[in-house]
Amino acid sequence: MKYQEFKPCPLCGASGQIPYAGCTDYTVSKEHYTLMRCPSCGMVYTLDPPSQEDMSQYDKLGLKLKLGDSPSGLIGRLYYRVRSYMLGRKAKIVESQSYRTAGTLLNYGAKTGFFSHRMERRGWKVISVEKYHEERQFSLEMFHHRMIDLNEMDKLRPGTFDVITLWHVFEHNPHPDKLLDRFYELLRPGGILVMACPNICSTDAMHYGPYWAAYDVPRHLWHFSPTSLCNLVHKHGFTLMHHESMPFDSFYISILSEKQMRHKLAFIRGFLYGLHSWLVSLSKRGKSSSLVYVFRKRQETE
Ligand SMILES: [Zn+2]
Repeated sequence: MKYQEFKPCPLCGASGQIPYAGCTDYTVSKEHYTLMRCPSCGMVYTLDPPSQEDMSQYDKLGLKLKLGDSPSGLIGRLYYRVRSYMLGRKAKIVESQSYRTAGTLLNYGAKTGFFSHRMERRGWKVISVEKYHEERQFSLEMFHHRMIDLNEMDKLRPGTFDVITLWHVFEHNPHPDKLLDRFYELLRPGGILVMACPNICSTDAMHYGPYWAAYDVPRHLWHFSPTSLCNLVHKHGFTLMHHESMPFDSFYISILSEKQMRHKLAFIRGFLYGLHSWLVSLSKRGKSSSLVYVFRKRQETE
């Protein structure tokens, strides 16, 4: 395929897109996708992903897997420990960065609602947005927490939230520009936007190349570096206040990547490389497998 046959960048409209990598959907479809890089805005994106209507077929790994079911065996117990620790850590990030111990929080892409539930228990008023009915139903039954769908989100009143969170969600959204504008409207003055995303400049991304599990095509439409993400969010009226690494992601992603490569002893190899990547990230945060970013809504006059 000639470069000029590629469509313009879906984000900034520039032409001259450059192939970045070829990745396979190892999780669901085994289909192959090309990642493109925009020479103008630097964004890496999945070329020709399925439509949003069709994406549910690629998203549905089964609720059971996402929930972790009941904690049985060493891996199950470990998973529960890690999830519980991470929920606490996310809550601390929200509270320390917003300077609040309670307030109004919009959890966008809330999945099965564990984080929403944790924040409600801490005294926050939480509105959760989730596109899939199955997940909304789970949250209702498990936590008695009613989530809203994307249509209901349109009815939310502007300027009402202290915090908006997206935990590994933003890279799935087909219209990041529109979404950021909506978040800007919904946050009160000085409110914060907290988002966690995989980092294509991480040590493990560089090591595993097209096998890096966090490319997760075609579910991930955008593949951010700290620079491309911050440039995008900054354009929509936000300023970066803080960023930190997600400590367990390098292990999880490295183990998954090793499995995708069908290496023997994938768990041990992945764990060891994950450890290496995590150790590097202690001194070079920009090399973390995933990062949590905290942005503050700028005032009109800033
Ligand atoms: Zn672009």
